[in-house]
Amino acid sequence: MTTTMTQIFWTAAVVAVLVTILEMLFGSKRRGGPSIIVGVVLLVAGGILAAADHQTVVGLVPYIDTIREFRFARDIVGFFGGALFLGCGLFGRLATGTARDQIFRLHGAMAMAHQDLKSAQELLNSVVRSSISGVMILQAIRDESGVVIDFTCRLMNHEAEQILGRAAATLLGQPLLKHVPCLRREGFFNDAVSVIEMKLPYMDERQCRHGDRQRWYQVAIVKHGDGVVANFADVSDRKRTEEQLRHAAEHDTLTGLPSRSLLTDRLQQAINRAKRMPGYEFAVLFLDFDRFKIINDSLGHEVGDQLLISIAERLRANLRDIDTPVRLDEGHLPARLGGDEFVILLDGIDGPRAAVIVAERLQEALSKPHILDGHEVISTASIGIVINDGKYENPDEILRDADTAMYQAKSSGKARHVVFDETMHNEVMQRLTLEKELRAAAEELQFTLVFQPIIAMDTAALSGFEALIRWPHSERGTVLPANFIALAEELGLIVPIGQWVLREACGQLKTWQKLHHGPRPLYMCVNLSKQQLIDANLVSSVEGVLANTGIAPSSLVLEITESTVMDNLVDLQPVLTRLRKSGVRIAMDDFGTGHSSLSFLQNAPMDILKIDRSFVSGGGNPRDYGAIIHTVIQLAHNLEMDVVAEGIETVEQLAMLQSLDCNFGQGYLFSKPVKPEHAVKYLDRDFRFTVQAEGTDLIAREQSEEKAA
Ligand code: C2E
Ligand code: MG
Ligand code: MG
Repeated sequence: MTTTMTQIFWTAAVVAVLVTILEMLFGSKRRGGPSIIVGVVLLVAGGILAAADHQTVVGLVPYIDTIREFRFARDIVGFFGGALFLGCGLFGRLATGTARDQIFRLHGAMAMAHQDLKSAQELLNSVVRSSISGVMILQAIRDESGVVIDFTCRLMNHEAEQILGRAAATLLGQPLLKHVPCLRREGFFNDAVSVIEMKLPYMDERQCRHGDRQRWYQVAIVKHGDGVVANFADVSDRKRTEEQLRHAAEHDTLTGLPSRSLLTDRLQQAINRAKRMPGYEFAVLFLDFDRFKIINDSLGHEVGDQLLISIAERLRANLRDIDTPVRLDEGHLPARLGGDEFVILLDGIDGPRAAVIVAERLQEALSKPHILDGHEVISTASIGIVINDGKYENPDEILRDADTAMYQAKSSGKARHVVFDETMHNEVMQRLTLEKELRAAAEELQFTLVFQPIIAMDTAALSGFEALIRWPHSERGTVLPANFIALAEELGLIVPIGQWVLREACGQLKTWQKLHHGPRPLYMCVNLSKQQLIDANLVSSVEGVLANTGIAPSSLVLEITESTVMDNLVDLQPVLTRLRKSGVRIAMDDFGTGHSSLSFLQNAPMDILKIDRSFVSGGGNPRDYGAIIHTVIQLAHNLEMDVVAEGIETVEQLAMLQSLDCNFGQGYLFSKPVKPEHAVKYLDRDFRFTVQAEGTDLIAREQSEEKAA
């Protein structure tokens, strides 16, 4: 029986342990509960059994003797079994709640870490694979002394294969430089080594040969262990776009020549080089094209554009062809600043003379006619030259001085070149001031008119006046038209000024016609500039003035210089014909200076011919011109044109012109241009312009402009 009980109790103990373990593994949160209950029961039972040894319980418990026989079993139940169950129960409750959880947690964490690692690996692979840039993970290969001699490729993506032109299969695990030696040549190897050594990431753009094409890559290298992760992005397209944008910013779209910004860069480089390198010289040529504005206004902007393109081609071609003394290696730079202004940097010249020689050659090449849209257009260049003398600090200073010299060239007769010198500064400042003042004067129409009488040669009576503009200036005194008309044309102010002259002159004529009672109505000559003639509103504004003043159209004579007429860019015939149709008469002014042929006169819709004073009083012996003047007068009369001789200053000139049958005359011999109040006396019907035999004119002297002023 004892043996059987012992077995039972041992079995119970094993069951208790198993129950505890099972609870630990799969039990609920209240683990160990059954074991605790069993343990407590057994301990109570053990206690009862122990108490059975005590006399007090003898008799209380039936079969006490039988129980006593179970002493061994009682011990086991009471102490071993109970303690075991209780221990297991408590362990189950405590240990399973913490250790088991920790074990589980650890296991879970390990599983998760494993999972994370796996997915991180997959993520890395996907990132690398899907990257649109080339990615390579490289491990350094070091020699015995620890120096990096190459890299092993541990991972690379498809894009990296494309960029390197090698399959991953041939590179993975292999020394990289052995298979792709150009990586050393193109600097990649050194960059990667310095990233490892300096522990600093590297990022830059570099140009590499990709197959037979040059490509741009953005390269980023970061240190990773004893190696690097290299990232290459092909940025060739972006680079190309950037290059196109830069090219557009640095070049003129019309001519394709470098623009101001590129020129300024190159000028600054030249200035810096000149300071560093003794003996290095450069020059700047500033070109402005004579008559460009007129061409543009008269033939239209398209022809103007074609002219600029043609000029640019000539500049390119001629700078290419320049041989000694200009060195070819430095690359002279022709640039367009805007409008018809071009600048050439002669980069590296052998002395100032070289720049002048280039300017002369360019002028020759540029003076040949351009055939544009069926028109033969001539536009010569005025060139300002600046030779760098080391004093320049920035490009603007050079361009300013070259512009000044160009302006000098232009005002000294066009198609010339002038080398800048310091004295020109003042002139420029003066010109700028004049420009400003002229604009203000034009705005407020601060001009006056003086009138020079035109005399009928046969009667010495007044036949008309020529209105001549003056600009009364508070500091400069009276400014003559020769000193501001060209500037007004250049500044585009001549049209409004000319309209004012027309209104004023016609208004004055209206007043004088009422006072004048000569055999023929008094007329007024008004000078027109080329820009007025190509102004679309000219005819209507002339008709408007005639209508407003009420003067007869034939009393108005519009003077156009021969050179304007001969400047055959625009056919002036239509506008002249329209003007004549409205009854206005046209005079060809300054005849003899514009190189027109006599046959030209036959087709010109003109009423009056004014022989330039250079033929009459302009030096030399007037008799030398006698034959020419005679021919011209005869031809004009045949064509039913009146002839006015300008600039008659002496009695001899007058006598000669009279003998040549010239019917009208104008000159200081009769009268200088005078103010209106002084012209009134000429209106008297009996007034005659008498001259003394000695050649001095009493009346004219009295009425001279100086006295009038
Ligand atoms: P032009 O039309 O040939 O006018 C004649 C010029 O010769 C005038 O000069 C006159 O003062 C000058 N002159 C007249 N007789 C003599 C003489 O005997 N000897 C000398 N040495 N000169 C004489 P001015 O007034 O200085 O005008 C110069 C030019 O300016 C004019 O030449 C004309 O082409 C232009 N001009 C004058 N007024 C106007 C105007 O209102 N509009 C335009 N577009 N041009 C004008
Ligand atoms: Mg005139
Ligand atoms: Mg004239």
